[in-house]
Amino acid sequence: MALEFRNPAPDAGPDDGEEAIDYRDAYESLVQFLYQAPLGLVRLGPDGAVQMMTPAAAVLLNALPDGGGDLDNFFDALRGVAPQLPRLVADFRPPTGAVCTALRIPLAPSGADARWLGLTMRKLNARQLMAVIHDCTHEVEREQRRLRDRLIDASRTDALTGLPNRGVAIERIQQLADDRRDGPPHTFAVLFLNIDRFHQINDSLGHATGDEVLRLLAARLNAQLRRRLRAGGGSRADALATRIGNDEFVVVLDKLGRPDDVHAITQRLIDALLMPYGVGDQQLHVRVSVGVVLSAQASASGVEVLNDANIAMTESRRVGALGYAVFEPAMRDRAARRGLIEEELRHALARAELYVEYQPVVALDEPGRPLRCTGVEALVRWRHPRRGVVPPIEFIGIAEACGLIGELGRQVLATACADFMNWRREFGPRAPRVLAVNLSRAQLFLPDLVDMVRDTMCSTEIPPASLQLEVTESMAADDEQVRSVLTDLKALGLSLALDDFGTGYSSLSSLHRLPVDLVKIDRSFVSQVDSSDYHRVLVEATVQVARSLRLNTVAEGIETAEQARAVRLLGCEKGQGYLYARPLSSPALVAWLTAAAGDAPDADSDPA
Ligand code: C2E
Ligand code: MG
Ligand code: MG
Repeated sequence: MALEFRNPAPDAGPDDGEEAIDYRDAYESLVQFLYQAPLGLVRLGPDGAVQMMTPAAAVLLNALPDGGGDLDNFFDALRGVAPQLPRLVADFRPPTGAVCTALRIPLAPSGADARWLGLTMRKLNARQLMAVIHDCTHEVEREQRRLRDRLIDASRTDALTGLPNRGVAIERIQQLADDRRDGPPHTFAVLFLNIDRFHQINDSLGHATGDEVLRLLAARLNAQLRRRLRAGGGSRADALATRIGNDEFVVVLDKLGRPDDVHAITQRLIDALLMPYGVGDQQLHVRVSVGVVLSAQASASGVEVLNDANIAMTESRRVGALGYAVFEPAMRDRAARRGLIEEELRHALARAELYVEYQPVVALDEPGRPLRCTGVEALVRWRHPRRGVVPPIEFIGIAEACGLIGELGRQVLATACADFMNWRREFGPRAPRVLAVNLSRAQLFLPDLVDMVRDTMCSTEIPPASLQLEVTESMAADDEQVRSVLTDLKALGLSLALDDFGTGYSSLSSLHRLPVDLVKIDRSFVSQVDSSDYHRVLVEATVQVARSLRLNTVAEGIETAEQARAVRLLGCEKGQGYLYARPLSSPALVAWLTAAAGDAPDADSDPA
């Protein structure tokens, strides 16, 4: 079959005055060029009958699975791989134009040996079409590679922050653990960062704000690490920031000079992340808890190292201080134990294994006067089926961490209010006047806390003035949100006590900013008030400042008559401690009250 191109202007002669162009030569060289080009040209009729075909086209069609048949009909030759061609042509109505452009036609087999043909077909007129075919295997391979890379990239990148994701973190840690095992010892560290109470940002300010905080935090993390790399040299892999979950970030640091470096770097990161985040017109503060695994303690598996870092993070959060915890193997046992307790606590709440004891608060009257009980403090206990009675210190923190504190707090408040109302019915004016119930920090961030307290007060009919909620210093310190919840609680008509005063963050100078009515001086001060000048001065100062703010004071943990005398002489109005009574079950308290009532004059008129 011969190629027959028509010279576009076969009779055209050279223009006057211009250099003569030999169009026949130009036409011949074009034909030669097209013959040699790796493009196959086929002219065909609307039924596919081949009218002309270049050798390159024949070579390309011969690569078809069955060799393209006898190549007399273009559609037949491609029927196995492009059966749609006859229909495409038949459906193409315009007198001329592109029927298809760069149509990809797979030539079997698939996989690594796959080959592809590109087909562009143009209708020239009612009787002729021109097809251009070329081998586009490399093109397709390139595209597929690009797509694959993009998919791999997407599967390794966190879409929200643009940071590498969990898979990359684990891979990098594994690599470092392997290097350390196989090569010369070097120091690396894995930092696990988790934003404290991040869900509250989402809940109260919306997910868009939460997302923005995550983006800003990620950018800040990256900026800090880049700064470190610029200062100390090294490649990006030496300080890798990743986002491995909702509000969880992991930083992998390699080539740490001295093990101590990690402490300085971690602290710098924490400080940087503590700076406020500008979202819209708000300035948001977030705190992160950080767990660190140093290479010396690192397991052989990347996943385990990450788990250990998470355990250390949880430990650091549990302690509650601003800072970080460095993983040590003993933490694994503690975490497992916490996991077990969490499971059991879930059951305990469902099976009503928790109960409440009450410790009397008494007036610190002149010696010789009968004991006056001014109030009681409700203290939760857990009657564990195997371990016996478990003290709150062993499960409150866990209940906070695993989200059970809301239900626990609700049960304690409901039980205590109901018991309190029973004593009132039984003892009338001689019953304790105030019921104090502890609130833990996590409870203050529950969205339904105020409603829950209000509902319980309504259903038990406890007079608001009889209920006192105890919060610890660290809760109330410098947290706008906490202060606003405390104000809402007070608006219910109840009173607030600042528990464990002296052990937390706030100082005497910040006492006036807290909406509390009473200060409970911590046992650690009371226990040494009669033996240490320092503690005596502190108790005295607390009482003075509280008095100037019209706050009452209670000395906690009084165990001896000497301590009672010392705190009374320093001006403390009330006391609580084993000297008067241990925490008692409700019936035991009734007995205690009965005995005390026997000696007492009239009911106490002094609000606790
Ligand atoms: P807290 O509120 O400061 O309660 C006082 C703790 O000191 C109680 O320990 C009490 O038994 C103990 N105590 C009282 N007098 C003495 C004494 O003379 N000597 C000694 N050594 N200890 C004395 P408990 O019941 O083990 O409670 C520990 C902490 O657990 C409480 O400290 C409180 O922070 C928390 N807690 C207890 N019940 C609840 C609760 O229902 N909810 C919450 N959120 N926390 C609770
Ligand atoms: Mg308390
Ligand atoms: Mg206390």
